[in-house]
Amino acid sequence: MSHSYRTIILARMGEIALKGLNRGKFERQLMDNMRWRLKEFGAFTIVQSQSRIWIEPKESNADLLEDQEVAQQVLKAVTQVFGLVSASLVRRFSGDMEDIKKQSVQLTDDILSEHDYKTFKVESKRGNKRFPLASPEICVDVGEAILLSHPELTVDVHEPDFIIYVEVREDLYVYSEKLEGHRGLPVGTAGKGMLLLSGGIDSPVAGYMMASRGMQLEAIYFHSYPYTSERALEKVKDLAKIVSQYSGTILLHVCNFTDIQLNLYKNSPQDMLTITMRRVMFEIAEELANKQGCKCLITGESLGQVASQTIEAIQITNEVVKTMPVFRPLIGLDKEETCNISRRIGAFETSILPYEDCCTVFVAKHPKTHPQKKHIIEAEEKLDIPALVKQGVEGIETYKIERTSK
Ligand code: ATP
Ligand code: MG
Repeated sequence: MSHSYRTIILARMGEIALKGLNRGKFERQLMDNMRWRLKEFGAFTIVQSQSRIWIEPKESNADLLEDQEVAQQVLKAVTQVFGLVSASLVRRFSGDMEDIKKQSVQLTDDILSEHDYKTFKVESKRGNKRFPLASPEICVDVGEAILLSHPELTVDVHEPDFIIYVEVREDLYVYSEKLEGHRGLPVGTAGKGMLLLSGGIDSPVAGYMMASRGMQLEAIYFHSYPYTSERALEKVKDLAKIVSQYSGTILLHVCNFTDIQLNLYKNSPQDMLTITMRRVMFEIAEELANKQGCKCLITGESLGQVASQTIEAIQITNEVVKTMPVFRPLIGLDKEETCNISRRIGAFETSILPYEDCCTVFVAKHPKTHPQKKHIIEAEEKLDIPALVKQGVEGIETYKIERTSK
């Protein structure tokens, strides 16, 4: 190594810290998920101490994080593991106050070579009480050393352009940036849910949100080939892959929906088609969910967004699901808020690709927006729903979707 420090990652846990007696279970799951998420980059030693996690490449790939680009990729992957507030690349070294000053100045040099910053401050933590200086003194000394080599900078304790953090433990650490984590709880601590995943903006966000509460995901996509193209299916697989960066592996069940949809098209009134179709979808999803050990359904519905999402339409769709809750994490969000989350998780660009989904092909010109019980009874008179559900469940093909490598 050309420099006198080693780059490692420091991650900070969030809500788990509040978990009382169950805390151990949550922490173990988080560590497992972290190991699994980082596997593709090489071997790491991952150590937890209080509410922090220290991640260090093993000897076999000791210099991994010295490459800035790779380091950023690994850091980003770390923040995608639910349960973390933030993570930083930190420089670890040993020595005394002189070394702390030297490393802090060097880090400042590196920061200023990339940013046009004018103000800074130093924050320090001393875990090792045998270290001869206390935190405030460390801050003053480091601040002075930085000002000496960069007289153009000034200290601003309230709104600095950048912060140099110094930590004194058995070893010494300096770092500056904190990348925000996705918070939430570790996937695997809240059972499994069945996501109704379409190719749109909403359902991948809904899946992400439930995964952020610790829920493992499976997904079902209703595919009406050739009314919906092969590329529409590829798009759904891509979206599942994006969500799996956060949620872990997703089993994607593709239900061949063409014949069912044609049957509905022929045998139920046009203005009720969306509703009858959604009721059959929900029944198929529920049956599959039970078979797979999922404890809820998850959809991307948001109240009032489209005709099928009025309260009456939601009520009448919801009533077919008898054995589990249907979670709609976007119910109170407006489209802009959902789009923002979609962008943040990296799904938006894929979601807006223009492949039609089955609902746009068979959509009625004037769907009933406030359906009543009597309407649905009429609409389903000529339908053999149990047979359609059976047909749907039997026509499922399953794919194992894993995150993209980077
Ligand atoms: P999205 O943006 O998720 O496609 P949307 O705004 O298009 O949602 P709808 O078409 O009414 O709204 O769908 C509402 C929800 O129903 C979706 O978020 C999804 O959970 C589910 N859904 C719709 N179409 C399908 C499909 N072909 N396969 C699986 N789930 C679907
Ligand atoms: Mg849609």
